[in-house]
Amino acid sequence: MENNLLDSFVDELHKLEKQGNRRTLPLITQQGNHIQYEEKNGYNLSSNDYLDLATDLTLREDFLQSVNSDNALFSASSSRLLTGNHVLYTQLEERLSAMFGTESALVFNSGYHMNTGILPAICHGRTLILADKWVHASLIDGIRLSAAQHFRYRHADYAHLEELLAKHASHFERVIIVTESIFSMDGDCTDLGYLVRLKRRYSNVMLYVDEAHAVGVRGERGLGCAEEQGCIDAIDFLTGTFGKALASLGGYLVCRQPIRDYLINKMRTLLFTTALPPINLRWSLFILERLDSFSDRRQQLCKNSTLLKQQIVAKGYECGSQSHILLLIIGDSNAAVLKAKELQRKGFYVLPIRPPTVPEGTSRIRISLTAGMPASLIHQLAASL
Ligand SMILES: *Cc1c(COP(=O)(O)O)cnc(C)c1O
Repeated sequence: MENNLLDSFVDELHKLEKQGNRRTLPLITQQGNHIQYEEKNGYNLSSNDYLDLATDLTLREDFLQSVNSDNALFSASSSRLLTGNHVLYTQLEERLSAMFGTESALVFNSGYHMNTGILPAICHGRTLILADKWVHASLIDGIRLSAAQHFRYRHADYAHLEELLAKHASHFERVIIVTESIFSMDGDCTDLGYLVRLKRRYSNVMLYVDEAHAVGVRGERGLGCAEEQGCIDAIDFLTGTFGKALASLGGYLVCRQPIRDYLINKMRTLLFTTALPPINLRWSLFILERLDSFSDRRQQLCKNSTLLKQQIVAKGYECGSQSHILLLIIGDSNAAVLKAKELQRKGFYVLPIRPPTVPEGTSRIRISLTAGMPASLIHQLAASL
């Protein structure tokens, strides 16, 4: 390639560098809850392994007991529509719908596939999407790929949402409200009950809720905020990922049967990709079968979160978090990078979150707690802030 064809890429990288927003891929080795990087070692506060299931050796050993060279299949070798629809998919989906008490469930290759696939499949030009301003990039990409018109309501501003509904709902065949249940850049929770009541005032409004950060963690049985708030039935598209607290890989939707049947016909990110490896489905099922039994971990995570939040507030930071994800708002990107480096030097592997992930001027440090973090270490972290 001619060198001058690269110039604009290089210029853009320089620009990002100057703003403190240039990213590189860190070289990481994990050892249990510890991260090794650049010859340093830190307690991992940046993973989504909220219940410490991914690092649990006993769990892994138990799983491996059920695996042998006959059933350990590392590739599905084709899409689900062809030969990739292993019987483990049926078991996993039946398990999901039984747990959630829904008519059906559908499993996807990842949460990213899920959100970029469902929305384009279910929306036509007479659909309106009303999405929280801060929804995850995968939801934004799903909206962009869809034929729907859309508006974003100010983050968690339900009055704004109501206003948009009142103004536009009657002009569309269908309206879909899109939100997450726990927002990972702020750690706050959505009032799902409120959205359900709001939706019920209209005959053409559906609700799409992404529980990526809540599944496993919230609710008596770990089914998420919808379980906690008693409204699983009322959510038309209740989704989550296996990639975070559930320590695996994949996305899921629990829904009415016609929606599942429709997606199997229309959803491009489900149809045109190789199915998940059976070994991965087996592990996801293994975790789901035990989800109920992890309530001790859920309680411990909740305790840890309350403890650290109290300490952060006592230090004079504002902290609007209502979950296990805690944020220190710093403001400037470079300052956030420096603060993260300082905490890393003190043995805590935290990372700065910068634009475009968060709005300009609100760079922050994200502390993502896990159930197994000892209280003594939480006190030590708080003292380091
Ligand atoms: C992480 C995340 C996803 C993506 O899920 P993956 O399984 O990692 O692809 C989707 N939605 C939200 C809200 C997320 O936080």
